[in-house]
Amino acid sequence: VEIKHLTHIYMPGSPFETKALDDVSLKIEDGEFIGVIGHTGSGKSTLIAYMDALERAKEGHVFVNGVDLGASGVNLTQIRREVGLVFQYPEYQLFEETVGQDVAFGPKNLGLPEAEIAASVKRALALVGLDERIAQASPFALSGGQKRRVAIAGVLAMEPNVLILDEPTAGLDPYGRDYILNLVKTWHDKGRTIIMVSHSMEDVARLADRIFVMNHGKLEMQGTPDEIFSKEEHLRAIGLDVPQVTSLAGRLNALGFDLPGNIHTMDDMEKALCAALGGEARA
Ligand code: ADP
Ligand code: MG
Repeated sequence: VEIKHLTHIYMPGSPFETKALDDVSLKIEDGEFIGVIGHTGSGKSTLIAYMDALERAKEGHVFVNGVDLGASGVNLTQIRREVGLVFQYPEYQLFEETVGQDVAFGPKNLGLPEAEIAASVKRALALVGLDERIAQASPFALSGGQKRRVAIAGVLAMEPNVLILDEPTAGLDPYGRDYILNLVKTWHDKGRTIIMVSHSMEDVARLADRIFVMNHGKLEMQGTPDEIFSKEEHLRAIGLDVPQVTSLAGRLNALGFDLPGNIHTMDDMEKALCAALGGEARA
């Protein structure tokens, strides 16, 4: 996925005109796990809509596998097969009578043969940890967390090589959150590209290879979690935080510890404390 000088203006020429994206350029390599962070209204959702060709660039260019999505005659079905987008609160978009029909919706639109559709529905439900029997149930009979999993299964059923998720854990309890994050991680471990918008600095620190930081429609920073979370002041200035363990490491150092500067996950912290406290920590 590559974006060049992309600008997006909502309601141009009206009193509500908003520049949601302002000259954004970025490049994502195959197999990367990208975290996208930024304050509310910074342009995250608008940015990912372009990657799935839901918006077509008027100013700038969006490429997927070298194909310019704004060019005339682009095969959008092929692009949507390649790129799967899980919207924020995707469960609100369940609409079929049964779970099975809902999950089958995407593969059907791709024009896959009946037998292949059935197989991909089965596979996708298994991937999100739902019993096959649930395929006969109404999506509305499920719990919130289950509905979200059904909605995600509907995207995974198309086996996208690039999976984009807009705050996939928003509103879920800790169990539901872990479940979804593990699922995303598993998808990535199979070599797929992930682009995940998140409010959780902890989650992106733990999972992302690189982080894009959006601020007022601009791509303000990009880098590895280490690079991004070492800029605590810059992040705070644009309404963002560092992971809690990063702050904690700073406070422990103020108390006389000598922990390294790149502690961003619980794992980092555990290792650093074990090293600092020697054998005692292991006991
Ligand atoms: P984020 O996902 O980071 O919260 P969005 O991409 O949703 O940001 O929004 C970026 C800006 O565009 C915000 O100022 C928002 O109010 C505005 N915006 C988003 N969607 C629309 C829309 N459909 N019509 C008008 N303005 C919009
Ligand atoms: Mg958003």
